[in-house]
Amino acid sequence: MAKEELECSFCGRKKPETNLLIAGLDAHICDRCIEQAHGIVIEESKQSDSNDLSAELKLRKPQQIKKFLDEYIIGQDMTKKVMSVAVYNHYKRLLQPVTKDDIEIQKSNIIMVGQTGTGKTLMAKTIAKMLNVPLAIVDATVLTEAGYVGEDVESILTRLLQAADYSLEKAEKGIVFIDEIDKIARKSDNPSITRDVSGEGVQQALLKLLEGTVVNVPPKGGRKHPDQKFIEVNTENILFIAGGAFDGIDRVISKRLNMQAVGYSASMSDDVVDQDNLLQYIIPKDLKDFGLIPEIIGRLPVLTYMDPLDADTLRAILTEPKNAIIKQYKKLFSMDNIEFTITDGALDFIVGKAIEYKLGARGLRALCEEILTDAMFDLPSGDEKKLNVTKMYAEEKLTKTTIKKLKAVS
Ligand code: ADP
Repeated sequence: MAKEELECSFCGRKKPETNLLIAGLDAHICDRCIEQAHGIVIEESKQSDSNDLSAELKLRKPQQIKKFLDEYIIGQDMTKKVMSVAVYNHYKRLLQPVTKDDIEIQKSNIIMVGQTGTGKTLMAKTIAKMLNVPLAIVDATVLTEAGYVGEDVESILTRLLQAADYSLEKAEKGIVFIDEIDKIARKSDNPSITRDVSGEGVQQALLKLLEGTVVNVPPKGGRKHPDQKFIEVNTENILFIAGGAFDGIDRVISKRLNMQAVGYSASMSDDVVDQDNLLQYIIPKDLKDFGLIPEIIGRLPVLTYMDPLDADTLRAILTEPKNAIIKQYKKLFSMDNIEFTITDGALDFIVGKAIEYKLGARGLRALCEEILTDAMFDLPSGDEKKLNVTKMYAEEKLTKTTIKKLKAVS
């Protein structure tokens, strides 16, 4: 066949009418048909992605979600239960067929109140892992109103797009964890703050995002790249989880409980109030009294709390979760054919130090690292194939200087 008689086997265009004609075994395809076919492939894979998501979500009922959380997170039963239901309902809302009954299921954004290091971030991470959806973790303290030094609220969505590898579809079903939400509480009791850069203004800017709106998002982040094209992100199906320590809120709760106790002495008398864990009594009004504006509270309708970590919980965190710290060290050593064991005494010692120096769960990892660094440095080059860490060994490695260092970073 003469060259000019060749034609695209899909659209029939002759070779001279095309920019490019690629030959197969006994067929040809032109550049235009390649582009079209490419478009179809992308569309199809998007479809199957969202089908994957529905399939995945349909598989997990709240009880199963909680079971999954149990594998990674110790304790926090109440929050796990509340989160399982909220997440299930959120994705049910996403999958709801369009009906004419006018019942629109509203978003179940979540707010978690609990001391730092009690597992709030871990909770958000584990849920995102389970659902296989992108997760953006942002710190509310860096957010400022547009025009001030800091990050615009839209930067939250830039992060989510990045976490979704710039797949808009995935990002729009993702999860955003806003940490330290308490730090943007209105500081009305602090007259020295003349300009509310990171307070109420940021709360106002967050409102729309939480509720569901279309935002123009600079995909590379705001101010450094002024020329980029914006991407429109719809936040309607994004699940927002906010977390914060709300230092001092226990006083707000205690005051309220005391007032109630005066009013209804039988229902809330002192002997039923667990003074060591006042957060369990938290209600939305307490957040308002702390300084969150009512509109924000309304858009974070699921309120839950984290229990403080006691010695037993810290001990369990060291050894029990699927990727517990001790399991990780065992694996690291075994890669050098070294059998790593640790005695109960040593574990109790580590937990004791974490409590004594108020290092929390985050400190457990740092303590282990300090204790094991020498061994991890020396053993891979030596002949010794066993390491048994006893309390004495741990004590020896943990000098006063290292504790000081750990206290500084915690
Ligand atoms: P928060 O966000 O509340 O400050 P994180 O989720 O960042 O706390 O937790 C800090 C560290 O402690 C993480 O490495 C996490 O693995 C561990 N941790 C905290 N609480 C738990 C828990 N309940 N179960 C398992 N690990 C925990």
